[in-house]
Amino acid sequence: MTVPVTLLSAESLAVVVARAGSLPLGAAEAVAEAGGAALVVGSGAKQAAEALAPNADRVWWADTGAGLRVGALAAALGGLLDGVPLIVLPGSPDGRDLAPRLAAVLDRPLFAQAIRVCYEVANVRAELSRVDDRVLVAVEHDGPAVATLVPGVRSVVVYGSTDVVEVALPDPLSEGMPGSDVEVLDVLEPDPATMDLAEAPRVLGGGAGLVPAGTGDAGARAIFALLTSVAARLGASTGATRVVTDAGWLGYDRQIGTTGVAIDPELYVALGVAGASQHTGGLGAPRHVVSVNTDASSPMTAMADLGLVTDALSLLIELARRLDVPVPGEVPRV
Ligand SMILES: Cc1cc2nc3c(=O)[nH]c(=O)nc-3n(C[C@H](O)[C@H](O)[C@H](O)COP(=O)(O)OP(=O)(O)OC[C@H]3O[C@@H](n4cnc5c(N)ncnc54)[C@H](O)[C@@H]3O)c2cc1C
Repeated sequence: MTVPVTLLSAESLAVVVARAGSLPLGAAEAVAEAGGAALVVGSGAKQAAEALAPNADRVWWADTGAGLRVGALAAALGGLLDGVPLIVLPGSPDGRDLAPRLAAVLDRPLFAQAIRVCYEVANVRAELSRVDDRVLVAVEHDGPAVATLVPGVRSVVVYGSTDVVEVALPDPLSEGMPGSDVEVLDVLEPDPATMDLAEAPRVLGGGAGLVPAGTGDAGARAIFALLTSVAARLGASTGATRVVTDAGWLGYDRQIGTTGVAIDPELYVALGVAGASQHTGGLGAPRHVVSVNTDASSPMTAMADLGLVTDALSLLIELARRLDVPVPGEVPRV
């Protein structure tokens, strides 16, 4: 096994699981929290490590192939990471899966859902988010630990050009490698309608401007059901503002913003969304933003790459017609 001395001497290290060369949400934040050192594992790890390099000052990678087996991977990483006091994983689905296995293999505590974590004078200190962010718990451990960092809680650091270095791991998929894993029969692509909004690459967001004045509750619900169907046809997930979730037209798991879900999609299409700071605060840095709003000077349109100054519901119904999505009878005709 080739293990660079610099990796072994890191005090804090971000461990990031890549899938087919893509980084999970919160990867660069975990690296920043770990002081700039990162180890990228998973499938397409080299490509993902290169994508992460501008946000890290040291990057190692080990391609562990397709079909992630977290138990075997934790066992393979155990010997490598034993001397690193603080290991930070992004709180993405794979990070949350791997972190407790790593903590068990390394025989150290797990600080899950940290919003801050650091290693200082042989102590790990963290602040953990509990009860849907309503309670913050300060913890301290006199020794090494593993932590997951909630995505969307801190800034990232840009270091410039950093070399990525390959690390050889024992093949975690080989016969005889310790670590209990379920047998993976198939890996299905997530359904945009039900997937974790935080992970969605494309989001159609609806705001109060989608609902014409005087529309009853059934009509408003039908509008958001239509938004969800159109989004699904486009391979996108549905998001909403707090006005929409407070009214019960969509569930709170769909609310984007500072008191909702933090997203970071490739594409965000906002229909009838004003763009209040509490909403845009949860948008991350979408690569493309489209705003559909009757007010050309709304904050949402001001931050959009493409602003369509028109009635949002009419546009949604026309989109549905062109995509062959049935429009429920309760949707008001405008
Ligand atoms: C402590 C706190 C936390 C909050 N957290 C969140 C949060 O996490 N997420 C969140 O979203 N909000 C949050 N809010 C609420 C936030 O301040 C805004 O009130 C909310 O985001 C506005 O939602 P909206 O854009 O749907 O509605 P509105 O503010 O009513 O805006 C509607 C928009 O639609 C446009 N419009 C009107 N008619 C049409 C039409 N026919 N076609 C197209 N456009 C039209 C209007 O020009 C306007 O821009 C929070 C507020 C507080 C105080």
